[in-house]
Amino acid sequence: MNSIKLSKRQEEILHIVREDGPITGKQIADRLSLTRATLRPDLAILTMAGNLEAKPRVGYFINPQSAFKQDAASLASQLVGDYKAHPIVVPKSASVYDAIVQIFLEDVGTLYAVDKNGQLAGVISRKDLLRAAIGNSNLEELPVSVIMTRMPNVITVSPDETLLEAGKKLIQNHIDSLPVVREVDQENQLYEVIGRITKTTITRAYVELLDY
Ligand code: ADP
Repeated sequence: MNSIKLSKRQEEILHIVREDGPITGKQIADRLSLTRATLRPDLAILTMAGNLEAKPRVGYFINPQSAFKQDAASLASQLVGDYKAHPIVVPKSASVYDAIVQIFLEDVGTLYAVDKNGQLAGVISRKDLLRAAIGNSNLEELPVSVIMTRMPNVITVSPDETLLEAGKKLIQNHIDSLPVVREVDQENQLYEVIGRITKTTITRAYVELLDY
């Protein structure tokens, strides 16, 4: 459905029907200052392609199935780089105690640990911190590097991947967040952290795109 490329006029028709449907062919023609006859082929194409439905004495309206597919496609094709949030980063030498304080101060669920060159070294989640806190009394002496999930086991995403790809990585790996990275050295797998994508990021994009 809707695999054909639409003309500018067909896009305009869809816009009018989306805003004001159900609407008659005559009313659409008036809005575009065209005759009903000029518009007829476009309406026929849009109806056959499955974008529009028509009911006698009611008019044209958006085919709900096609609207859903268009919304889903537009959500899936959004880029990580346009939605990424600010990453909260700590040195890998930081203590577990400081990491717990950071999680509360920054109101995040995951921290990213970096080495002394500022490159991604690991990921520390809330449960990593809870686990460390249960067994240890001296959290100020325990560095996060001991308890974090380390590179190269960290799942990352690049800014030019889509939200759909990011969402799949979250679901398939049972994790809440992905560091958005830029590669600085492919051979040695060195990455600079430039953002984060979380389940909240994806939920927000979903709401923003569909709440029109
Ligand atoms: P929580 O543990 O707070 O529920 P997650 O589900 O994100 O949060 O984390 C589960 C485990 O996966 C933790 O041990 C964490 O270190 C690890 N983890 C989190 N994010 C990633 C990631 N992007 N790549 C690899 N491991 C991760």
